[in-house]
Amino acid sequence: METPQELLTTRQTTRQVTVGAVKIGGGAPISVQSMTTTKTADVEGTLEQIYELAAAGADIVRCTCNEEAAAEGLAHIIPRSPVPIIADIHFHQEMAFAALEAGVQGLRLNPGNLRKPEEIKQIAAEAKDRGVPIRIGVNAGSLHPDIAAKHGGATPEALVESAEVELRYFHEVDFDDVKISVKASSVPLMIASYRLASERFDYPLHLGVTEAGPPPAGLIKGTAGIATLLAEGIGDTIRYSLTADPVEEARAGRQLLEALGLRERKDLDLIACPSCGRAEVDVIAIAREAQAALEGRGLPIQVAIMGCVVNGPGEAKHADLGIAGGRKKGHLFIQGQIVRVVPEDQMVAALVDEAERLVAEGVEARLAAADKSAEAEAAADRAALLDEKGSDANQASVKIEKIHRRLAE
Ligand code: SF4
Repeated sequence: METPQELLTTRQTTRQVTVGAVKIGGGAPISVQSMTTTKTADVEGTLEQIYELAAAGADIVRCTCNEEAAAEGLAHIIPRSPVPIIADIHFHQEMAFAALEAGVQGLRLNPGNLRKPEEIKQIAAEAKDRGVPIRIGVNAGSLHPDIAAKHGGATPEALVESAEVELRYFHEVDFDDVKISVKASSVPLMIASYRLASERFDYPLHLGVTEAGPPPAGLIKGTAGIATLLAEGIGDTIRYSLTADPVEEARAGRQLLEALGLRERKDLDLIACPSCGRAEVDVIAIAREAQAALEGRGLPIQVAIMGCVVNGPGEAKHADLGIAGGRKKGHLFIQGQIVRVVPEDQMVAALVDEAERLVAEGVEARLAAADKSAEAEAAADRAALLDEKGSDANQASVKIEKIHRRLAE
């Protein structure tokens, strides 16, 4: 019997690009993207939203990098983000360099906004040196005026030509680490543009209906465009653009892929922090151990494994349950509130025990049963760790210094 995927048209073969640890194209699972709505300079607020988006199903998150403070924010955010970060560069070449200095895992350039060939080539050359892929993000609403005039407006040919022109600049500096989007707010125009793009390119395609508006109409427009193309085998990564909390975008993307049989539905959802300079435990090893111990128990919850108690419970406060390392202990938390502190070697066993109880008894009962001294113990551990490592455990100040120098050039 055919798999759900085989019942649909075979997927188009595309090249593969890698954004952080996420592979796009070349047969990789279709990934879900979303975009933060916070000011990128607001590090804690942006990270909180990134964690929420990851919890809702986003594999990659895009942040605006439109000013110096945003680039500085990225220098702090990227080492602590659970998913790769793409910087959206608006009109200024130097913001691309600043975002690269901050350590972004991908850039998005809009050919309609950044128009000078020399500048585009310089960005591509530096992205190449750093191994950072770029999305050529063509948008019907901001098409290069010359191309729009040549085609009598935003036609599928015009959108695809805009991407081709950008690609030629990239190829002049031997840069090929590219994905492409040809978005429009008109669903028929978007579908026709991507069909044409998939005939012309073998680069991975990022699908989306731009400015789709608020739900439910925005969801229907997004689904009409994205699902039609996915069912035809076109598309490697997707984003819903809704006038709503971006969590709805991530959730919708995930649900659409599950509905089409393109991503698996899982009961247990385990997330882990990227383990930055603050990590107190081997996050990868504990996450693996926890996955093995929790899987197959029919626990429909999200569990977060976090490297440190300084930021972990706050970053993962949208998870049902989590544990954060620090000072040879595991700090168990439910929806961000510390409920128990256990020795480090008992972290996974305590997590399994609490997960079982949480599902059986519910959040309120488990919060009520919290160890009354746990919050204070966690606060003391947090303070001691901040004393030991200072407030810049990820050396963001070094990157910020480089950002300042680039922007002063
Ligand atoms: S180690 Fe701490 S600060 Fe670093 S990513 Fe993990 S939880 Fe966040």
